[in-house]
Amino acid sequence: ILAYFTAIFIISRLVSIIGISKPWINMSPKPLALDISGKLSVDPSAIESASQDFGHIVKAIPEAVLYPSTPEDIASLIKFSYKNSVPFSIAAKGHGHSIRGQAMANNGVVVDMTSLKKHRNGTGIQVSSDGLYADVGGEQLWIDVLNTTLEHGLAPVSWTDYLYLTVGGTLSNAGISGQTFRYGPQISNVNEMDVITGKADFLTCSPKKNSELFYAVLGGLGQFGIITRARIPLEPAPKGVKWVRMLYNDFSAFSRDQELLISINGRKDKNALDYLEGSLLMDQGSPDNWRSSFFPHADHPKIISLITKHRIIYCLEVVKHYDDQTENTADKELQQLLKGLSYMPGFMFEKDVLYVEFLNRVRSGELQLKSQGLWDVPHPWFSLFIPKSQIADFNDGVFKGIVLERNITTGPLLVYPMDRKKWDDRMSAVIPDEEIFYTVGFLHSSGFDDWEAFDDQNKEIMQFCDKAGIGVKQYLPYYTTKEEWVHHFGSKWKTFQQRKDQFDPKMLLSPGQRIFNIN
Ligand code: FAD
Repeated sequence: ILAYFTAIFIISRLVSIIGISKPWINMSPKPLALDISGKLSVDPSAIESASQDFGHIVKAIPEAVLYPSTPEDIASLIKFSYKNSVPFSIAAKGHGHSIRGQAMANNGVVVDMTSLKKHRNGTGIQVSSDGLYADVGGEQLWIDVLNTTLEHGLAPVSWTDYLYLTVGGTLSNAGISGQTFRYGPQISNVNEMDVITGKADFLTCSPKKNSELFYAVLGGLGQFGIITRARIPLEPAPKGVKWVRMLYNDFSAFSRDQELLISINGRKDKNALDYLEGSLLMDQGSPDNWRSSFFPHADHPKIISLITKHRIIYCLEVVKHYDDQTENTADKELQQLLKGLSYMPGFMFEKDVLYVEFLNRVRSGELQLKSQGLWDVPHPWFSLFIPKSQIADFNDGVFKGIVLERNITTGPLLVYPMDRKKWDDRMSAVIPDEEIFYTVGFLHSSGFDDWEAFDDQNKEIMQFCDKAGIGVKQYLPYYTTKEEWVHHFGSKWKTFQQRKDQFDPKMLLSPGQRIFNIN
């Protein structure tokens, strides 16, 4: 009886979402709705958690949360909305690590993807018998993909810095890190996917099959379908890594060395680095930050005095993998690669760690911040792609101008180059129109009452770029007007719109991105 009333209550809430008059409830509800009604929750705690994300800036309250046991449950929900004359919006929520409500659905239904994981009974990540790929549920966290594939001595090649993100969430953006210059973003490392479109069609797609959907979904900001499985190629996992950081006070030397190092980027090229990033060190009390503690404690004073003297120090970070065969020679090979670079003498620091420890390097900082109550705070993050030809102007105007003047930066500030060749232009992801471009990430944390100061800084940076004619593109984009979206997509806008008409004509999916439901 309780289950019956719960079902009727939930259906009545759904009915209120889709605006059908109450008498409809008294008629026998469509079997479609009943199929999943037991998996829909209007519990205040479920609603509260679906109304938030890592950004802690935006709040949007859904009518209900779906806890699917199978991908078919998600298809049922989409079908239910799609078939109704007044459809409601639906957002897949992966791990909710968006910044601006991108995985929320105001007055709609949020699909809690992690619920699928519990029902897969350990089958959510399956390594193929030939070891060439893994079939991975869209709801799986990358850390679990890593741990499972490592049991087979294998691993994917392209990562994000932080691994507690879902496969579906990062594939909806791009998934970038220090491996991107060589292996491409994560969206360049997918063989095929299962996707439920906004019309509730359940399709397998790949470069050969339903290819339009395949490319639409990769970097598609959740607009075309919900990814329930991705086939990720694997390679033998390295045993450990030689990890080096070098400090510069001159941006042109820093960026020249970065570009030189990423110019060797063949997937099979033994002389190529396996990872390259860069960051800014500024006066924040310690040269380390929550994303990684790297520098030996004994060296902190000399690095801090360098930062005090120059105000900004650029840190170039590289990694070379090794396995049992190359363990003894990796150091030498790496030193050979770094020979002739222009970092400041005496400011090269080295570490040798296990591969898994390197990939999961951000976790300990997260746990530390959590224990101090500093993780669930506003994060007015801002990520950009900047053409190589304008990165020096960006350094002068933004790093040395806006950032130093405002002097509020409270978190990691990343800057490193990647190569357009490693991206596929058919994908929805948007990058600058230049062969080499940089990513810049301002990963601010703030208090609940002062995040707007960072937001103002972000806006000033955008205005500076507009004025200086810097062909910047936002990564993890957030815009407030349709014109900005059209400008963001540029020549891809028409295709993006056509794909929306084709795969989600009623505009049900991922409304929190605010692309099609914006004035
Ligand atoms: P969510 O925030 O839950 O969802 C993001 C979007 O994808 C939403 O629009 C949602 O509706 C949609 N979506 C979610 N699941 C699916 C699915 N299965 N199918 C279709 N659409 C779906 N990004 C990088 O590229 N590199 C990094 O190094 C990196 N580091 C990060 C570190 C931290 C601490 C944080 C908070 C974020 C980081 N990000 C990084 C950004 C991150 O990749 C994106 O925010 C990503 O969307 C988060 O994944 P998620 O599972 O939390 O997605």
